[in-house]
Amino acid sequence: MLRSATRTQFSRILPRATPQPLVWGGKSVLRSYATGADPYDVVIIGGGPGGYVAAIRAGQEGLRTACIESRGSLGGTCLNVGCIPSKALLNNSHHYEAAHHDMKHRGVDIGNVSLNLDTMMKAKDTSVTGLTKGVEGLLKKNKVDYIKGTGSFNSPNKIDVNLLDGGETQVEAKNVIIATGSEVTPFPGQGLEIDEKQVISSTGALDLPKVPKKMVVIGGGIIGLELGSVWRRLGAEVTVVEFMGSVGAGMDGEIAKNFQKILAKQGVEFKVNTKVVSAEKHADGVKLNVEGVKDGKSEAIDAEVVLCSIGRRPVTRNLGLDKIGIELDNKGRIPVDGQYNTSVPGVKCIGDVTFGPMLAHKAEEEGIAAVEIIKHGHGHVNYDVIPSVIYTYPEVAWVGRNEEQLKEAGVNYKVGKFPFLANSRAKTNMDTEGTVKFIIEADTYEILGVHIIGPNAGEMIASAALAMEYKASAEDVARTCHAHPTLSEAFKEAALASYSKPIQWVSLFLWWCITDILLASKQIENSVQNDNIDNTMSL
Ligand SMILES: Cc1cc2nc3c(=O)[nH]c(=O)nc-3n(C[C@H](O)[C@H](O)[C@H](O)COP(=O)(O)OP(=O)(O)OC[C@H]3O[C@@H](n4cnc5c(N)ncnc54)[C@H](O)[C@@H]3O)c2cc1C
Repeated sequence: MLRSATRTQFSRILPRATPQPLVWGGKSVLRSYATGADPYDVVIIGGGPGGYVAAIRAGQEGLRTACIESRGSLGGTCLNVGCIPSKALLNNSHHYEAAHHDMKHRGVDIGNVSLNLDTMMKAKDTSVTGLTKGVEGLLKKNKVDYIKGTGSFNSPNKIDVNLLDGGETQVEAKNVIIATGSEVTPFPGQGLEIDEKQVISSTGALDLPKVPKKMVVIGGGIIGLELGSVWRRLGAEVTVVEFMGSVGAGMDGEIAKNFQKILAKQGVEFKVNTKVVSAEKHADGVKLNVEGVKDGKSEAIDAEVVLCSIGRRPVTRNLGLDKIGIELDNKGRIPVDGQYNTSVPGVKCIGDVTFGPMLAHKAEEEGIAAVEIIKHGHGHVNYDVIPSVIYTYPEVAWVGRNEEQLKEAGVNYKVGKFPFLANSRAKTNMDTEGTVKFIIEADTYEILGVHIIGPNAGEMIASAALAMEYKASAEDVARTCHAHPTLSEAFKEAALASYSKPIQWVSLFLWWCITDILLASKQIENSVQNDNIDNTMSL
């Protein structure tokens, strides 16, 4: 077996840096990996958003570059089992739900609606394949060698690669960037070992063969709420069990409360301040034993499928870090300095495997900065302005600090809010749930944080990030002309509300009056039909 051959044995079979024929633009060209005599300028271990973006940038900068990826497909967690497939399912399950429940009152009659889960999964897979192949094309275009295999350090500038199609090679580099990303954190304790059938990770939740009758999601963070929403829309009963008192880790407290209410109204059941203590798998599903964090009250919950989404952990296994003397921090991450240098000269590290939020765009920015530092000696990422988005319906997006953090830091701040209920486009679209919330420094009006729950929040947050990157004040935003009628007018109004008074509150007032009258007349109508309504009405 070539794979188990020792280096000496193997070198005789396949010498290092064996030129391999490569078809490029219809012509056959020779491809070789760098040898000791001819090292790469940069070798990147990991082809996720951190690694592949770093590789493209390095190619654009004229650096001789290789990217090693063990998955057999570029794009990392994000493109293969993360951002992209989850957003494909979120988008299409939203259309399904809208067709079911939302179209009729818009004047669109579409008759019987049914789910074709196979086609929905195929649509997701087509997006994934198209994008991962696209990244492969981009590496070629930028003359990056894509090495399919698992890399591990032999020395700080030599990487051994176990090639996916058998055999080994070694590449030498002047600079190495570690971008090996993260993986699902398994649930500690017995009974919840991930089998991707009854107890699933986010990866299994992207590929279920049928809609489960009942799904329990352990962990009310971004991934759990997104995937829980997908399966609820498709027909599962979903319960979210969360250890903390609120969901949406890292979100502004007020927005988190609203968000939980909205999801509950959609049919997601929440058990907050609740911990899972044990579980038993049986033929038809899983029995979860949970306990109140505050009152210690025990309860058993049955589920057909349990989605375990308690977080992700850095991937450093089998990287040979011990050979070069890199030690991990207490969270298992690779420590770096402000220039992404590890403790070993010539070895940098970016993305999920090091500090900071585990987000694709954060990894990408670091990839670019790390390469620019290698090439030009400078490059930067502004960690105060990294947006977060939850792609549920409505979306939630935020950037900068929330009220809880500012209170704790003793910052003197002001808040301005504007509800979509008072935004003309949201009203026209019949899509009025949510708010834009600006938090500004009380004296200078500098924007400290923006938190949005509502339609298109994920797109709108880009304006907040741009304003904050340029240190704009709320007044700068409010004095910028925004097109009418757009949802972004709510953004401008919230900026205005933070230091002065919003303009459009009158229409909100009128809207409330009309809504109240309509609701009151509906209640009267119902009470005539049914004397017993008081415990059935809910808005
Ligand atoms: C379900 C889900 C949804 C998500 N949604 C979003 C979202 O909407 N927005 C967002 O910003 N983020 C999202 N994320 C997080 C995002 O996917 C990660 O933050 C991002 O992929 C991190 O990029 P990375 O390059 O650091 O690592 P990764 O994407 O994890 O890539 C690392 C790559 O390195 C490879 N590798 C590891 N070890 C080796 C080795 N020794 N040799 C060679 N290759 C190796 C791995 O195979 C992997 O492909 C989501 C994650 C999940 C799981």
